[in-house]
This record gives sequence, structure tokens and C-alpha cells, in this order.
Amino acid sequence: MARTKAGNSEDPNPSVELRDVTKRFGDFTAVDDLTLAIGEGEFFTMLGPSGCGKTTTLRMVAGFEEATEGQVLIDGADVVGLPPYKRPTNTVFQSYALFPHMNVADNVAFGLKRKGVDKKEIERRVGEELERVGLAREANRRPAQLSGGMQQRVALARALVNLPKVLLLDEPLGALDLKLRKGLQVQLKRIQREVGITFVYVTHDQEEALTMSDRIAVMNQGRIEQVADPEQVYDRPASTFVAGFIGVSNLMPGTVRKSGASGEVELDSGAKIKAKVGGFSVGERLNAVVRPEKLDVDAGGPGDPVVEGLVESSLYLGTATQLIVKLPDDVRMTVLVPNADEAQRQRLPGGGAKVKLSWAPEHMHVVRESAEPTSSNDKEEAT
Ligand code: ATP
Repeated sequence: MARTKAGNSEDPNPSVELRDVTKRFGDFTAVDDLTLAIGEGEFFTMLGPSGCGKTTTLRMVAGFEEATEGQVLIDGADVVGLPPYKRPTNTVFQSYALFPHMNVADNVAFGLKRKGVDKKEIERRVGEELERVGLAREANRRPAQLSGGMQQRVALARALVNLPKVLLLDEPLGALDLKLRKGLQVQLKRIQREVGITFVYVTHDQEEALTMSDRIAVMNQGRIEQVADPEQVYDRPASTFVAGFIGVSNLMPGTVRKSGASGEVELDSGAKIKAKVGGFSVGERLNAVVRPEKLDVDAGGPGDPVVEGLVESSLYLGTATQLIVKLPDDVRMTVLVPNADEAQRQRLPGGGAKVKLSWAPEHMHVVRESAEPTSSNDKEEAT
């Protein structure tokens, strides 16, 4: 993969900027020459698997880690060397880190008291933030008397009350159960819109990233593979890594037979498919991606691309039925058919049946292979 210099937002005065930032721990490179610009008021998410460097990147913005090389700018000012409390940022951690001996209001007021803000002003601002996160009635309770979700909302109010220019959130919903997490995702997004502060959010949960973000940076081994809005990351992944990490990948390997906008790809399963392959040359290997919900079973329109395969399994999932279809090159495709019509569901082919999978041409997207591991880090991971 070419080193990514993507992610420069349209904003000419970015809120957060990383320029050629590298972070090494000994001879291990956790963040590798990362360049990124986050716009003011953006909900920006860094998404990737465990160990990809997203938390380290966030901690360099917060000031808990210093970059080994490169520049970190907030609101145009170089913050390298500044301790966290001198940066216009606040961080919300997965572990709420509340003071157990203080009540909710005192926890939220803590930063303002330290700054010597007027008592009346503190009261007003704390009241306002507790109202915003829906905890006005819990002001006198201790953290131990609150649920995990409530504690995290206290942590959020405690950060927002300081009016940071940038709020950094490190897997803030990671410790909560699924239902609570989904509820808080909606609340967090609402609060971000309301306060208009730049949010930089770290998660390994792709659904969370897709739901909440204005833009997502997908990270892999200390580098950015793609920066784009959620629709683009899902529909037009830049690499096989992104396609595989976001959603179900459904990668069909093939070879370019004719390049250009009206080109042709020969899939390893045997099908020849017309495709836009600008930027690829004849003979080049690639993967064709079609998302599970975009595949039709024995029902394509005239001229739609078609591949044949055998149904390996059929699974009822409530709102949809999932089929796994094996193509002649042993590639397995996941198909999701909505269970809108019971009669149609009954007609779906079962295990062992031969089927034709088709899709509208605009629903296929071609990607290059992600880079093979080359750095010393990768060798370490392979062992
Ligand atoms: P996770 O979701 O598991 O926290 P992450 O993408 O946030 O993953 P980082 O915490 O940024 O990953 O860590 C990136 C890599 O750097 C990991 O391999 C980690 O072991 C390593 N690393 C992080 N902090 C240190 C440190 N202080 N000393 C040595 N190695 C570190």
C-alpha cells in the first residue's frame, strides 16, 4: 500500500492536525508517518483492530504521549512538548475515572474549582452540563450509586464543562453492554451536534463508527488505510483490509482483462464481468467487493453480472436470511435476503442447491490487495 497522506479535511483551519507523526516504543513503531487533518466541529473516528495505533494517536493529541517525529497542531498551534493540562483538550476514558468520594456535581465541578472559577458560575455550568447529559436529578449521588452508563455520562459532563476545543474519547462505551451502548451512541451524537466541539473518537467497533461519525480513519499497523465518510468507507473501501474490517467483506479475487472506465474483470470463479477499472492495468490482480445485502439470488436484472455457486448454509436471522454460497474458486459469499415476504423466504434455496448470484453493476467495487507485512513490527506479529 502506498503511504497514506489522506485525510486532509476541506477545512482550511483544521481543529487538529498531525503532520508526519511517528511514535516508536523502543524499536517498535506504533504509529507510522501519519498525516491527518480534522475539521472544526467534526465527529472524527479512528477505527481499527487492537494494536493498530489508534489510542497512541489519541494520546499524542492529548499530550499523554509525545510524538517521536512529526508535529501535532491544535487550532493551528504546535502543542508538542505541552503537558495535557495546558492543551485545549479533555479526554473521556473507557474507565470513567470518577472520584468515588465526591458526589456527581462535585465531580463535574472539579476542573472549574481548580481553575478558580466563580462559585455561581460553577453552579450554573455544572447544572447546565448535568441537564445536557440527563443527570440533573442525580447531582447529589455518589458514582457507586450510578449505573455504568450514568457514570460515563458524568465523565462526559465533567469534560464538557471545561469547554475544551477538542474532546478526545477513548473507547468510552467499551465497558457497557450492547443495549446501553446503542442508547449512549445516539446521545453522544446529539450532544456533539449541540455543543459543536470537535470530537475525536477511538473505537474498534465498526458499527459504532458508522453510526456516529462524520468521517472515519481506518487504521492498520500504525498507518491509515482510508479516511472518508461512513458511506464511502462502507460502499467504496480503499483496500481489502478496509473491505474486510468494515462489514462482511465478500471479496472475489480476479484479474483485469481490459482496463479503463468500461473495462473487464475475469473473476477466479470463471465469470467475466464488465467493470470500471480506471487506474488498474491489464493483467493486474484485484478483488471485487459486493456487500451481502446487494446480492440477488436467482433474480438478477438483464445484463447484471452473475456468478454461480452452491449454497453451503442457510440461516434464519429474524429480519433477514443469511446464505453462504461457495463459488467454484472456493470463495465464500455471504448473502443477506430481507425476510419481508414469507412466501419469498420459503422459496429461498436450501443447503446444496445451485444458485446464481447477481448484482446491479454499480454495487460492485474493485480494490487492490492491502500491503503484505513488511516492517519489523509485522514480523513480530507473525511470530
Ligand atoms: P487497543 O484497542 O488494543 O488499545 P490500539 O489500536 O489503541 O489498540 P495502541 O494502544 O495505540 O493500539 O497500541 C499500538 C501498539 O503500540 C500496540 O502494539 C501496543 O502494544 C504498543 N504500545 C502502546 N503503548 C506502549 C508503551 N507504552 N510501550 C510499549 N508499547 C506500547
